[in-house]
Amino acid sequence: MKKITSTLLAGFVILSGTWVSAAANSDITLMINGQKVQTDIPLQMVKGRTLAPVRAVAEHLGASVKWDENQHTVFITKGNQKPNITNTYANNTNEIKLVINGKEVKSDVPPVMIGGSTMVPVRTIAEELGSTVEWNEAKHTVWIANRIINPAASDFHGQAMITFSYDDGLDSFYDRALPLHEKYGIPATLNVIAERIKDGANTEFLEAAQIKDAYDRGVEIGSHTYSHYDPLTSNTDDDLDFELAKSKEILLGIVPKVDSLSIPFSAYDHRVREAAKKYYKAVRVFEHQQNNLPPDDPYWLHSAIAVTNEMTFDQIKLRIDEAVQKKKWCIIMLHGIDPNDDDLYEIKPELLEQTLEYVNNLGRDKILPVNTMDGLTIATQKQGK
Ligand SMILES: [Zn+2]
Repeated sequence: MKKITSTLLAGFVILSGTWVSAAANSDITLMINGQKVQTDIPLQMVKGRTLAPVRAVAEHLGASVKWDENQHTVFITKGNQKPNITNTYANNTNEIKLVINGKEVKSDVPPVMIGGSTMVPVRTIAEELGSTVEWNEAKHTVWIANRIINPAASDFHGQAMITFSYDDGLDSFYDRALPLHEKYGIPATLNVIAERIKDGANTEFLEAAQIKDAYDRGVEIGSHTYSHYDPLTSNTDDDLDFELAKSKEILLGIVPKVDSLSIPFSAYDHRVREAAKKYYKAVRVFEHQQNNLPPDDPYWLHSAIAVTNEMTFDQIKLRIDEAVQKKKWCIIMLHGIDPNDDDLYEIKPELLEQTLEYVNNLGRDKILPVNTMDGLTIATQKQGK
C-alpha cells in the first residue's frame, strides 16, 4: 500500500468481485518492434496475464481503436477492415468486450478499465493482430513483434502491387525503416553494396549480422553491385562481371537467396542488361515508370518514384493512387531514413510511416505490398508462365 501514488490510486481494478492491487506490477517494460513503448497507465499483471492500455498496444501495431460505450465494447481494427460497430454484440455483463477485426475475441482475463484507460491482455491483442509475443521474466519485459507478411500467389487477383526498394544498405534501414515495415506488415527489398558491409559500429552501412536479421524478419536482400563506384556502363567486361558476381557471392555468404539486382545510378545498356542476366532473375532500374501487370519484360523492372527530401506525401500518394487506379506495379525507390533529412536521398521517418500507413489502409485487395522477387513471381505466375 505504501507504493501507491495518485496515479496508481486508479490502479485498483475490480476483477471477479475482488480488489486487485496493481501497484506492484508497474515495472513491466513493453517493447514493440524493438522500441520501448511508454504508456500513461503502467502495465499490470493480472492472473499471470500482462494487461496494457489498449491504445498503446494497438496503435503501435498499426491498428486503430474505437470504444463503443453502448455496447461496452472495444473495437480494434487493422488495415482495411471496418469496425463492425452497427452489429450488436450482446453484452449483458459488466465485462468489457473485445472485437478484433470484426470478430469477438474472448480472453481468460477480461479487459478492465483503469484510470480511464481500457487495459487489455497484451498477448490476446497482439496475437489476433498477427504479432508474436514473448515474455522475458528476467527483464520483466513483454516483447511484441509484428511480422512482415510476404504474400502468396493466391493473394494476387489482378490488383495493383507496390514494392519498397531500399538502395545502398544503409543502417537507417535497420534502425528506422524495418520497425515501420513490421508495424504494418509490409514487405521490403534491401539492395546492398557488398563492399560497404562493415563489421562493428561507426559506419552508416549495415553489418552482416543486421542484413541476416533483416532477412530472417522477412526482408528480401538484393544486390546493388560490389562497389557502386563507376556506372556499370563504363566498366570493362571483366569489371562488370566482377561487380555482379562478387556482390552476389558475398551476399550469399550472409543470406541463402539473392535473386534481384538494382543498378547504381540506373546506368545500363544492352551489355549491362545481358551481363546481369547471368546472375540475377530480376533487375530494378529507375525511370519514373509504373510497371504493367504482368510486367512487359519479366526481368526488367522500373521504379516509379525515387523518394527525396524535397518530396511531399501527396506526391508519393499520387503515384500510389495511380497504380491502384490503373492496376500497375508501383516500385518506390528509397535510401536513408533520417529525422534530419539533410541529404537529398534522406527522408524523415514520419514521411515513410505516412506512406506505409496509407498503403496499409488502402487494403491488400486494392494494392498488394510485395518484395521485388515475390512480385515478379506472383505477377508472372498469374500470366501462366
Ligand atoms: Zn545507390
